[in-house]
Amino acid sequence: MTISPQRELDSLIAKIDEKGLHPTLLLHACCAPCASAVLEKLNPHFDITIFFYNPNIMPKEEFILRFDAMKSLLSHYPKIKVILGEWNNDDYLDKVCGYEKQAEGGARCGICFSMRLRKTAELAKDFDYFATTLTLSPHKNAELINEIGEREAKHFGSNYLPSDFKKQNGYLRSIELSHEYNLYRQNYCGCKF
Ligand code: SF4
Repeated sequence: MTISPQRELDSLIAKIDEKGLHPTLLLHACCAPCASAVLEKLNPHFDITIFFYNPNIMPKEEFILRFDAMKSLLSHYPKIKVILGEWNNDDYLDKVCGYEKQAEGGARCGICFSMRLRKTAELAKDFDYFATTLTLSPHKNAELINEIGEREAKHFGSNYLPSDFKKQNGYLRSIELSHEYNLYRQNYCGCKF
C-alpha cells in the first residue's frame, strides 16, 4: 500500500518532534492564502524561511499585490524570514512559449511548477528541507508537483518534503484564515493565459 504524501509528511514531523529537532525549511510560497494554512501546520515544527518566487504572476502589479499580502500574513509570524525572488517574467514567458493556449492543468503548468521548484531546490542546499504551498490548491496536481520537487531535489542535492496540503481540510482552513487575517485572495492562478 502506498502512503499518501500528507501522511508521509506527518510521519516525518512526528519523528522530528520525537528527536526534539527544529530543522530549517525553505518554503516556496505561491500566495498568502495558500501559505496561511501551510504555516499554521508547519511553523510549530520547523525554522521556516519563505521563498516568494513566482515569475508566472502577471501583471507585475498583481505580483506586488500578492507579495504585499504575504508580508501582511507574515506580520503574524515575526520570526519567519522571507526571500523575495526575482520577477523574471520574460524567462517564464520564454519557457511556456507554445503552450499558451493550453487549459490550466496542462503541460504549461508542469513547466511553471518546474521553473519555480528548480530555483527553490537550488537555494534549499543551505536548508535542511524545502517544500511548496502549491499542493494546497484543489486545481493543482499534487502528484506532479511532488514528482518535480523530488526530481529537482535530486539534481541539487537538497531534501524535498512531499505534501498534499489540500488534504485534512487544508484548503478550507486557508479560506478561514484568509478571512481571519483579512488577506487579499486572487481569483486566478497567476499567468495571463
Ligand atoms: S495556470 Fe497557474 S500553474 Fe499554470 S502556468 Fe499559469 S500560473 Fe502557472
